[in-house]
Amino acid sequence: IKTIGVLTSGGDAPGMNAAIRAVVRRGLSSGLNVKGIYKGYNGLLNEEIVDMTARDVSDTIERGGTILYTARCAEFRTPEGQQRGAEICKKHGIDGLVVIGGDGSFAGAQKLANLGINTIGVPGTIDLDIACTEYTIGFDTAVNTAMEAIDKVRDTSTSHERCSIIEVMGRNAGYLAMWCGIANGAEDVLIPEKYDYDEQKLINNIIASRKAGKKHHIIVNAEGIGHSEAMARRIEAATGIETRATILGHMQRGGNPTCKDRVYASMMGALAVDLLVAGKSCRVVGYRHGEFMDFDINEALAMQKDVSPYMWEVCNSLSHNYNKK
Ligand code: ATP
Repeated sequence: IKTIGVLTSGGDAPGMNAAIRAVVRRGLSSGLNVKGIYKGYNGLLNEEIVDMTARDVSDTIERGGTILYTARCAEFRTPEGQQRGAEICKKHGIDGLVVIGGDGSFAGAQKLANLGINTIGVPGTIDLDIACTEYTIGFDTAVNTAMEAIDKVRDTSTSHERCSIIEVMGRNAGYLAMWCGIANGAEDVLIPEKYDYDEQKLINNIIASRKAGKKHHIIVNAEGIGHSEAMARRIEAATGIETRATILGHMQRGGNPTCKDRVYASMMGALAVDLLVAGKSCRVVGYRHGEFMDFDINEALAMQKDVSPYMWEVCNSLSHNYNKK
C-alpha cells in the first residue's frame, strides 16, 4: 500500500479533525502518501482530492467541525456510483481509504472494499449509535455541550418556577438524553429505546413535585421522541404550570472537542492507518472494555445496540420522581 485517502461523511462531529490529523500524520510517518477527499463520497465522485502534508493539519486538533467538510451523497448508494468511486480511487492511486462517519458511511466503505479498495471505517457521530463501539467521536463534546446548556436553562427555569422540556439530539438513539438526564439531574427523561411514554404519568409527576415544593421540573426529551413544543403546550394546559420547550439543535454538533474526543479520535485515526499498513480491509475501528480494536464491517453493521438496562434504571432511580416508572 502506497497511498491512502481520508474523508468525512454523514453528520459532522467534534473530534473529526483530530482523526483526520492522525490519519495524515500516522500515514506520512509510515511512509505513505496521504490524500484528503473533500465533502465525503460527493467529493470523491467530483474528484475533490488533494495531497495532504503534515502542515495541512496544523492547528486543527482543537477545532470543531471537519476541515474536509462532509456531505451526504445519493449517487454513492447506487452500484454505478460505487463503481465510479472505486475507479476514481484507482485513478488517483488511492489503494487504502479511511472513512470517518456513521453506519451509512460504513455501508459505503464496505461497497468500496468489495470493489478492491482497502477501506477502514472510523466511528464519528455525536449520537453514539454505532453498535460495535462504546465510544464514537464527538459524543463526549456534544454531551458536555448539552449538559452545560441544560444547566443554564435550569437556572432560569428555577427562577420562574417553570417546567422545562429540553430536547437533545441523537436521532433514533437516546444516549445523549440519558447521559444528560443523569448529569443534569433531570426529573424525567424520555428516550426512544425505552418508550413507555405516558403523558398522564408525566403530568401527575409534575403536579406531585410542585406540591412537594420543587421550583422547577426538567424533562430531557430525546430527538427520537420529539414534539417538544406540542408536549409543552399540553403539559401547561393540564397542570397550569408554565412550561417551555427548548430545542438545543445544532449547537450540540459544534465547538472545540473535549480532551477525550481529541485523544480517542487520534488513537482511532492512527489505528485505521496501522490496519491499512497491515493489509487489512473492510474493518471498522471501535473501543470496547478499555481497548481500541477493529471489527469486520459486515459484522459491525449487523450488530444491534441498546441502552444499558442498568444505566437506564439508575437514571430513573436518581431522578426525584414521585411516580417512578
Ligand atoms: P450520521 O450517523 O452522522 O448521519 P452516517 O454515515 O450514518 O452518519 P448517512 O447519511 O447514513 O450518514 O450516510 C452518509 C453517506 O454514506 C450517504 O450520503 C451515502 O453517500 C453513503 N451511504 C449510506 N448508505 C449507503 C449504502 N447502503 N451504500 C453505499 N453508500 C451508502
